[in-house]
Amino acid sequence: MSTPIIVLAGPSGVGKSTVVQWVREHDPRVWFSVSATTRAPRPGEIDGENYHFVSNERFDEMVRNHEFLEWAEYAGNRYGTPLQPLLEHQAHGRPVLLEIELQGVRQVRDRLPQAQLVFLAPPSWEELVARLTGRGTEDPAVVERRLVTAREELAAEAEFHTSIVNSSVESAGRALIDLLETPSTN
Ligand code: ADP
Ligand code: 5GP
Repeated sequence: MSTPIIVLAGPSGVGKSTVVQWVREHDPRVWFSVSATTRAPRPGEIDGENYHFVSNERFDEMVRNHEFLEWAEYAGNRYGTPLQPLLEHQAHGRPVLLEIELQGVRQVRDRLPQAQLVFLAPPSWEELVARLTGRGTEDPAVVERRLVTAREELAAEAEFHTSIVNSSVESAGRALIDLLETPSTN
């Protein structure tokens, strides 16, 4: 028996960051994997907490040094999961939570077969569009590009072990904590 590694994914705007934040506030045992990204910080995002915001050169170096469990390009930026901190925290018995996009999920599935893949689904397409537009952090062209990708991401739901519908942040957060706090058998 070991503590779970949960990989959370779902279309842009479904509420992944919001639900992850709720889980971090309500279950201090959970260790959240902070990804590296070449994307610029959004207002309010903190380096080292939401992401490690790195230059293109630093990201290249991390790829070359095999520092990533997985990495992918998404909507014009690169994102990657640092491997070493994840292994260390899992070895110390912490439930591990990753929030990544679909190409990365597929890489984790191949490299860490014990990881549990969890899909965060919107209550409806209309609600997804409303959330992504309402966040107001991207210009219309970026929103449009993310919605095209979101359609592909929704089609991949069957590749996941479990789905959680994000109707309310609290109910989705509680469902995620339940999974994180259930010891895995492999
Ligand atoms: P993601 O990380 O999946 O791209 P965010 O966490 O940034 O999505 O959420 C997108 C928008 O939807 C934000 O404005 C957020 O406040 C809102 N949101 C998230 N979860 C819910 C929910 N359950 N009900 C209503 N709005 C939500
Ligand atoms: P955002 O720019 O909205 O924060 O994230 C864009 C997408 O990148 C989201 O789907 C998010 O889950 C994903 N993402 C964040 N970190 C990583 C990572 O380390 N690896 C991969 N493959 N995707 C990530």
